[in-house]
Amino acid sequence: MAMTTVFPVPALNDNYVWVITDDHGHCAVVDPGEAAPVVEALRARNLTLDAILVTHHHPDHQGGVGGVLKYAEVPVYGPAAESIRHRTHALREGDVVRLDTLGLELGVLETPGHTAGHISLYGHGLLFSGDTLFAGGCGRLFEGTPEQMMQSLSKLTELPADTNVYAGHEYTLANLRFAHRVEPDNDALSERVEAVQALRARGECTMPSTLEEELRTNPFLRSGVDAVRRNAEQYAGKRLSSPVDVFATVRAWKDAS
Ligand code: ZN
Ligand code: FE
Repeated sequence: MAMTTVFPVPALNDNYVWVITDDHGHCAVVDPGEAAPVVEALRARNLTLDAILVTHHHPDHQGGVGGVLKYAEVPVYGPAAESIRHRTHALREGDVVRLDTLGLELGVLETPGHTAGHISLYGHGLLFSGDTLFAGGCGRLFEGTPEQMMQSLSKLTELPADTNVYAGHEYTLANLRFAHRVEPDNDALSERVEAVQALRARGECTMPSTLEEELRTNPFLRSGVDAVRRNAEQYAGKRLSSPVDVFATVRAWKDAS
């Protein structure tokens, strides 16, 4: 069985295009928001591109698809419910993307909230969560409700705890600084802030994280935790009776901060 590795290609301001590759020189790319750095990275490593995967319609995730197709004419997989230019395969919940050359099968999870048709891809212990689940945070609710986003996030956290999380942006440090305001007494979180600060000081990527780490430190996965509820109530200035109310409040708090 070939060894799968995943590496980031930084693109635009703070996006990551994830390259999934093996030791035989094949690869697939996730969310090419920009073409030039991706093509350069594939050329430098002499990689054969076999597929492009897109999680949602925002330009910073699909804007480079056309340019990458000039490097290699390959299938383009994207959410059925969204407008993805050059898409050849429309994906819905439960579909499986078979990347035969890489020996990989990625399952499709519909994870609306950031956008209405956003999908995440999971297989072989790898989760590509786009702008749904971030390291230490979650995407803004541009097209969905707090209920939808919460459901999408819980769908992802049902995956095995040791799943590696690859998200669309390097937002981790800002996310964790906010998380620390929500949960100042969470020791795992304080440790993570320090570790991530050290990585960023060296200009390194803060992903993958694991779902286990996210469950311990990501406030958007912790609406049921007493301390999160209490601090969200203090921010809102009222009692919050359900986890969805807590989630919506923490999301609004982050948006305002
Ligand atoms: Zn987005
Ligand atoms: Fe984005």
